[in-house]
Amino acid sequence: MSKINTKVTDSVNFFQGNKPSELTAKFGSPLYVYNERILRERCRELKHLVDYKNFIVNYSAKANSNLAFLEIVNEEGLYVDAMSPGEIYVELKAGFKPEQIFYISNNVSKEEMQYAIDHNILISVDSLAQLEQYGQINPGGKVAIRFNSGVGAGHHEKVVTGGKKTKFAVNPEYIPEVREILKKYDLKLVGINQHIGSLFMEGDKYIEGVKAILEIVKQFDDLEFVDLGGGFGIPYEKLNDQPRLDLKDLGTKLNKVMEDFAKEYGKEITFKIEPGRYISAECCVLLGTVHAVKQNNVHKFAGTDIGFNVLQRPVMYDSHHDIEVYNDSDETEEITVVGNICESGDILAKDRMLPVINIGDTIGLLDAGAYGYSMASNYNNRLRPAEVLIRENGEAVLIRERDELEDLTRHMISLKK
Ligand SMILES: *Cc1c(COP(=O)(O)O)cnc(C)c1O
Repeated sequence: MSKINTKVTDSVNFFQGNKPSELTAKFGSPLYVYNERILRERCRELKHLVDYKNFIVNYSAKANSNLAFLEIVNEEGLYVDAMSPGEIYVELKAGFKPEQIFYISNNVSKEEMQYAIDHNILISVDSLAQLEQYGQINPGGKVAIRFNSGVGAGHHEKVVTGGKKTKFAVNPEYIPEVREILKKYDLKLVGINQHIGSLFMEGDKYIEGVKAILEIVKQFDDLEFVDLGGGFGIPYEKLNDQPRLDLKDLGTKLNKVMEDFAKEYGKEITFKIEPGRYISAECCVLLGTVHAVKQNNVHKFAGTDIGFNVLQRPVMYDSHHDIEVYNDSDETEEITVVGNICESGDILAKDRMLPVINIGDTIGLLDAGAYGYSMASNYNNRLRPAEVLIRENGEAVLIRERDELEDLTRHMISLKK
């Protein structure tokens, strides 16, 4: 295979001897392929982000909540956050203990709160109304509150979750009302959390957000923890040598903020972070197959089986994913790579310089492990792909079966008796 075509995966020995086309032949195409060693490396990097003692990494499972994937995260000693009872259910199955799960709720029903309470899982609420609801069903209980410190950041408007425009969190001006509700229901506020947004590549905005939330934390005595949120970015443009987030610099700065704060607060309060993408994105390549190549007016198109039902990010957030083409061509050309869904927005990459693509080629979308499978759907009644894990010894094992046709009608009810 030509070197230009496998530069990124070669540099990390991603496939460990498995040939992409053999993987799709065996497990079907398209196919999510994960590398266990890289996943473990990412977990360890963040676990050692700071020297501060009381530090916990909550992996944000919505980025990727495959059971086997969560089992590895659990083995690495990370905890998890959850966004729904469904995530809690899978996390418990993966071996997380209730006290290792933090349910960050947003506009949830009483039944959803009750599910977490019944399983002894701590909930964070993010409005006065939800705090009131929590008080009614669990008076005397422990609770956390998600505050909006006024700082927001992110790669796309849809993922900025702090600042003036967001639906999330409680604004600090409501602290007096918060105190009233806490008192009314004898609730114990044990933690404060925030999440300013997703995919920052420089740590300064994050630090700014941390300092801002600590101003709010100070107003409450005797908290057990502060959760600083996720958002740690990864370089999606590796072929353009995009630099990595400087974790060492961020870690040093964070460590200082934590130690200074602990002194001021008079207690070695626990700090948590909740990264999703940083843990799960880079250990995954999404493989697909090219079924048509054609010239339509000025654009040349490669038509693949990776529709936006398989990978939504390019359509939803205009996201860039680097593409590798697993063939021998040494020449490059400009081409638009598209999926097989009946919508003209079904585009994976527009006018991209890539190795010349032929029908039957296997391609790989890099860094597809975060918000990839977890956002996949059966749109167009297409089957969601299988997921495969390359173990540390190089063996490729199935960790989720591909949908079958019968799955499509499993919960549908026919009118014919
Ligand atoms: C999505 C989310 C995260 C994780 O975000 P990443 O950008 O994947 O790190 C963390 N916390 C909350 C509350 C989230 O909604």
